[in-house]
Amino acid sequence: MDKAQARITFIDTIARFTAYTSKHLPDDVRTKLKELGDQEDSEMAKIIYTAMFDDLTMADALSRPVCQDTGIIQYFVQVGTHFPLIDEIEDCLREAVKKATALAPLRPNAVEVFDEKNTGNNVGVRIPWIEWELMPNRDDVQIYCYLAGGGSSLPGAAKVLMPLEGYEGVVKFVFDQISSYGVNACPPLLVGIGIAGSVEVAAKLSKKALLRPLGSHNSNPRGAELEARIEKGLNELHIGPGGFSGKNSVMGVHIEQAARHPATIAVGLSTGCWAHRRSLIRIDASMRYEIISHRGATI
Ligand code: SF4
Repeated sequence: MDKAQARITFIDTIARFTAYTSKHLPDDVRTKLKELGDQEDSEMAKIIYTAMFDDLTMADALSRPVCQDTGIIQYFVQVGTHFPLIDEIEDCLREAVKKATALAPLRPNAVEVFDEKNTGNNVGVRIPWIEWELMPNRDDVQIYCYLAGGGSSLPGAAKVLMPLEGYEGVVKFVFDQISSYGVNACPPLLVGIGIAGSVEVAAKLSKKALLRPLGSHNSNPRGAELEARIEKGLNELHIGPGGFSGKNSVMGVHIEQAARHPATIAVGLSTGCWAHRRSLIRIDASMRYEIISHRGATI
C-alpha cells in the first residue's frame, strides 16, 4: 500500500474506531458494572443498573452512542519510531474526528474558548487532545481513545500539598473532591489519582490512570495497598449508581506516580463515569488493526 492509500485507510479506521467507542463500553467496564449491580439490594439501585444495561443493549441494537455527551475526544498515542505515518498522525486524528462525528453521529461538543462558538465537528484548538509516547524500534501504533464527558470531568482537580501533609493529605484531597462533586460524574466512578512533584504531571498521570484496565494494580505494593484502601473508603460513602445511594461508589481506584520533589507532594484527580468510553486499538505498518479493549470487535 502506498502512503496516500495508507493515510486514507488510517483515517477511516480511526473514525470507525472512535464511533465504535461511543457506542460500546469496553469488556472490563461491562463486567464490573454487572458485578456491582449484582451486589445491590435496594430497589432504586437495581432500577438504575437495569436502566444502564437497557441503554447499552439499545445503543448496540440502534447503533447509537451510549450517552448523549460525546465528551471531548482525547487520544493517547504510543507510536513506534518506524510507523510509516508517524509524521501525519496528528492531522489524521483531526480528520478522523470530523469523519466520526458525521458517521456515528456524535453530538458536537468542542466550544472555542473566548469565541464561545461550537465548532460543529468536535475539532478545535488543540482538540482532539493528543498525548504522545514513542516506542523505539517498532513500526506499529497503539492508540487509546477516550471520550471525556462533561459530567465525568467535573470532579477533576489538582493541587500541590505541603510535604508534611503526606499521603494522608492525598487521601483527604480525594475524599473531599469525591464527596463534594463525585455525584456529578454519574457514578459508579472510576477514580484516577496522580502523585508527583508538580501539578501538571500529577494531573496528567491521574488521567492516564483511567486508561488502565479495571482490576489492575499500581506497580508498587504500597501504591496498590493505597488504591485498595481508598476504594474501600469511597465505597463506604455508599454514593451508589447515579448518586441514588447503594452498596458501592466506585468501579475502581487507580494511582499512577512519578518521583516527586522532597518539598512537594502534588496530587491530581480525574474521574470516569459509569459510561467509561475508553478503548485501545493497535495498527500495524500495513494498516491492519486489532481492537484490544473490546473482545471480538470489528469496525
Ligand atoms: S457523566 Fe458520563 S454518563 Fe453522565 S452524562 Fe456525562 S458522559 Fe454521560
